[in-house]
Amino acid sequence: MSAVNETLIRDVVAEVLGKLGGAAPAMAKPSPAPSAPAPKPEAASPSVKRASAAPALRGKFGVFATADEACAAAQEAFLQLKQKGVEARRKIEEIVKTLAEANAEAWGKIEYDETQIGRLDHKIAKLKIIKLVPGVDWLRPDARSGDHGITLEEYTPFGVVGAITPSTHSIPTLSGNIVNICAAGNSVVFNAHPSAARCAAVAVRAYNEAIYRATGIENIACIIEKPTLDSFNALCKNEFTRLLLVTGGPMVVKAAMQTGKRAICAGPGNPPVFVDATCCPTRAAKAIIEGAAFDNNLLCIGEKEVFVLDQVADKLMQKMSENGAVRLNAAQLEKLTKAAFTFKEGQGGGCAHASVNRDFIGKDPSVLAQAAGINLPSGTQLLFAETDAEHPFVYEEQMMPMLPIVRVKSVEEGIERSLVAEHNYKHTAIIHSHDVENITAMARALDTTLFVKNGASPAGLGLGGEGYLSFSIATPTGEGITNPRTFTRVRRCVMVDNLRIY
Ligand code: NAD
Repeated sequence: MSAVNETLIRDVVAEVLGKLGGAAPAMAKPSPAPSAPAPKPEAASPSVKRASAAPALRGKFGVFATADEACAAAQEAFLQLKQKGVEARRKIEEIVKTLAEANAEAWGKIEYDETQIGRLDHKIAKLKIIKLVPGVDWLRPDARSGDHGITLEEYTPFGVVGAITPSTHSIPTLSGNIVNICAAGNSVVFNAHPSAARCAAVAVRAYNEAIYRATGIENIACIIEKPTLDSFNALCKNEFTRLLLVTGGPMVVKAAMQTGKRAICAGPGNPPVFVDATCCPTRAAKAIIEGAAFDNNLLCIGEKEVFVLDQVADKLMQKMSENGAVRLNAAQLEKLTKAAFTFKEGQGGGCAHASVNRDFIGKDPSVLAQAAGINLPSGTQLLFAETDAEHPFVYEEQMMPMLPIVRVKSVEEGIERSLVAEHNYKHTAIIHSHDVENITAMARALDTTLFVKNGASPAGLGLGGEGYLSFSIATPTGEGITNPRTFTRVRRCVMVDNLRIY
């Protein structure tokens, strides 16, 4: 190593460790990589050399104790990726997609074992489809050409993205986020949900080990090993964090918006389904069951309540019973409601306010049935019951395989009640109808990010409908189904009076 390099590296180590609150030691040997050769010294810009020299960041493969360490490592990786170019981004995309599929069984199981919510088969399925997330090819520059020359608008990275992931799909969200964020040339630091953080760290380490072997970049996707609210705050505050991506419920969306950093927020939903008299009841029933039963209704896009026109309601429920759903009677519904919600005295009018009992979130239909006092035939996918429009199962995002069905007298009432139940989250709504006027009226009234007609909710994410996949659907902030372009800055490059050839 040349004297210049050594001095430079020593300075940078001091700078990085200074930021991490430690003293600069004598130049230490980098920790050996467990399953990969030590990184080759970069032959390029000083910024890359600077970042690649910090021994505290070696050998971690993305898993760090603190947000500041993770952000320093991610910043180093961002600079390395910048140096290595689009080919390295392609490699990262390919590795994440390939490993997610290859490890779907193993990782699905560790996520299920850790979180104890959802369904193992669907945890596995969610990992197998990461390949449907867009990648590097999504980013096509826009060009203009005219008498004054040519102009190119390119989609360029921010740097380090801080990402918050939910308990409901930890490794799938993390994997899809890495593909989208790194395809755009960024690196990422995750603060996972505490109850789904161990499995997330397993995936992060595996991704980084493979990416390191292929590209020499060790920490392109980092994670805070034991996430807390403090580590969330530290991640948001860190100077390297340029952008936030939050996937979760109302509290974390609010917290992210208060940080002062730009936040892309994939927030909560409570998707209503409206069924009118022109629908095909069999198709509607099957689609509703498919969407609401998926992963025990953990998906933010999953059908959470159904409003159905009176004249088709009995037929729809009969078809649901014939296709794997079991109907609860009023007494069974009451027992389940008492177990699945707690009722606290509300403010203002003093009405009791229901909140979901987390012990029931994402549990199997058999667990809910036990609370309702019935035994289920094997293979039951979903429970359903007739309720009124003000029932907690209607207005709470319950995330359970139990669907409330509400009769309505008119299309207008069905749309109005759907609007109220959606809480203006502008997330997802579904209609089963062959009347284009009704479809248009609901689309206009609810104004949701996803609006699925005559299919199951996953069709909105390219699963049974046209489109692409992401597990982060940016609703309150409006970016929609996130893709690589979501994580870019638009930069314009103008050549005046030249290079227009003809
Ligand atoms: P959650 O809101 O409890 O947690 C989500 C993440 O935010 C976790 O990492 C958690 O640790 C963190 N968090 C929660 N409160 C926080 C706060 N005050 N400050 C900082 N961090 C905080 O949600 P969950 O139960 O893990 O996931 C389900 C929720 O996420 C549902 O509301 C669902 O609709 C939503 N979700 C939305 C999308 C989408 O794409 N729009 C995707 C998946 C889940």
